[in-house]
Amino acid sequence: MKEDLPSGIDLIPNGVFGQDDYGATYLVEGEKFALVDPGTSDSFPRLLDWFEENSLSPSRLSSILLTHIHLDHAGATGHLVDELSHLDVYVHARGAPHLVDPSDLLASVEDATGTRFSEYGTLKPLPEDRIVPLDDRSIINLGGRELVALPTPGHAPHHLAYQDLATKAVFTGDSAGLYLGGELIPATTPPSFDLEKSLASLEKIENLSPSVLLYSHFGPGEEPGRLIDEYGQILREWVKLISNLNRSYEGEELVEEVLNRKEEWLGKGFTEEELSMNVRGVQRYLSWKED
Ligand SMILES: [Zn+2]
Repeated sequence: MKEDLPSGIDLIPNGVFGQDDYGATYLVEGEKFALVDPGTSDSFPRLLDWFEENSLSPSRLSSILLTHIHLDHAGATGHLVDELSHLDVYVHARGAPHLVDPSDLLASVEDATGTRFSEYGTLKPLPEDRIVPLDDRSIINLGGRELVALPTPGHAPHHLAYQDLATKAVFTGDSAGLYLGGELIPATTPPSFDLEKSLASLEKIENLSPSVLLYSHFGPGEEPGRLIDEYGQILREWVKLISNLNRSYEGEELVEEVLNRKEEWLGKGFTEEELSMNVRGVQRYLSWKED
């Protein structure tokens, strides 16, 4: 795995949902260090262990870059800032208020994940002065290394991708789907999935001419152009499938119907619960699109 990573970037398996190859936190090394997407609150001890195993002091970290505030990406942020009070937390301006007061966010996660809510851990509120809200093309300077933020809405309205200008690698978060065991899987979870915005964001990422896509789920994807095109195709087909079924089935019946065809969609490491959440995200999108 390590040899596929661009220079000065490490992958820390953060153990999200108790799996070793599902959640990736990236360490970006300039004169200062940054973590991209630290994972859930349960990932926090795993991150500290990784630093110890690699004989690095966590105090070298200067910042956390969040692609978005879903708990499997951002949940450990509050724990890290508690431990390392100098950390700057970079996040899209629209996500920032939810890190200071996570109550609405937690309620929305509970609504979206149902019985799996406990696996998402929690989110400690952050002091407002630790948060740096980002906008289009904001630059993050790690000393000798710069990253640029790119709004990539669609999976979530406040989603950002980051490009490392030194290597042209792009941290895609969930904006280019999940890439598990070599398979691309839709990231259409509720409450805010939007097909058109997702497709426009994919085009934006492609226009960055990335050298590699660094997926939060999970790891580097070579051949970025092919992966981006394939993911766009998968999203269109996935939404079309649910849109067609939506004419005959309502609510949970539709979820059941997709689960009956799950062999078409269940990739490696993709559980029935996740599949259900991805169906519900598209249902919600279709319902407000029709309004
Ligand atoms: Zn997400």
